[in-house]
Amino acid sequence: MRIQLRLVSLESMSEFEPGRLVRLAPGVHRLVAPNASPLTGPGTNTFLLGEPPTAVIDPGPAAPEHLAAIRQAAPRLTHVFVTHTHPDHSPGARPLAESSGALLVGLPAPRGEHQDETFVPDVKPQRDQCFALEGLTLRAVDTPGHASNHVCYVLEEQGLLFSGDHLLDGVTPVIPPPDGDMAAYLESLRRLRDYPLRAIAPGHGRLLGDPLAVIDGVIAHRLRREAKVLAALEQAGRASLDALLALVYQDKNTWLHRLARSSLEAHLIKLEREGRCMRDGDLWTVCRA
Ligand SMILES: [Zn+2]
Repeated sequence: MRIQLRLVSLESMSEFEPGRLVRLAPGVHRLVAPNASPLTGPGTNTFLLGEPPTAVIDPGPAAPEHLAAIRQAAPRLTHVFVTHTHPDHSPGARPLAESSGALLVGLPAPRGEHQDETFVPDVKPQRDQCFALEGLTLRAVDTPGHASNHVCYVLEEQGLLFSGDHLLDGVTPVIPPPDGDMAAYLESLRRLRDYPLRAIAPGHGRLLGDPLAVIDGVIAHRLRREAKVLAALEQAGRASLDALLALVYQDKNTWLHRLARSSLEAHLIKLEREGRCMRDGDLWTVCRA
């Protein structure tokens, strides 16, 4: 049976009020965490699976009112899935598991800044490992790139991809080195093309239709940006990261430059590994064939 998912055009921004339980599809509800910001959009999307819900994906920050809303909507929680351990996605996992006895599923936090080290999984999902929930099947797909421990989940019955920060609504995710890795990100995107997907439920923002077009659009965007980085290096000869930033990201607002700087560095590290550019102290130069 084909199930109608509620896509972009049917949603209004009022559905992103924190604490409001929104039904997206049979067996899929969304609660938005109270952490709206320029970086998190309307807030982190917490997804609840099952009728009534018995599993949660990305509990978000450990905000008491958000955890209370999750517990109210899913009083018999058996699984807490986490896409990655950035502080807007996973800190609510441990308190939820402690109060419910639910299994924590995800990959452990790598060392480094902006990681939630309170997240210690009971189950580290293998690629394509499937979890039987009540009447639903959730498949884990490791997708390193935005974060080294990033995992997406596919709700098999609906072809719905819970993409965390791997694919987002209206923006391309930042790839922050050293944990973020541009080559791994592109590889993870290409791998997702092989899954029979019907829609994407990102970690922030609205549901997205036409998953293949979304994935291919992000790959194309990244490759265009990479070509721009190489062209800027050719033009500059030798340039610092900040000098390149001005050349490559002329189209971005200044306040976004800190994020753009991370993704630019991720592009340069990928090109360096491929022998297409090299680093000499703080300066980068292109390698000529
Ligand atoms: Zn993230």
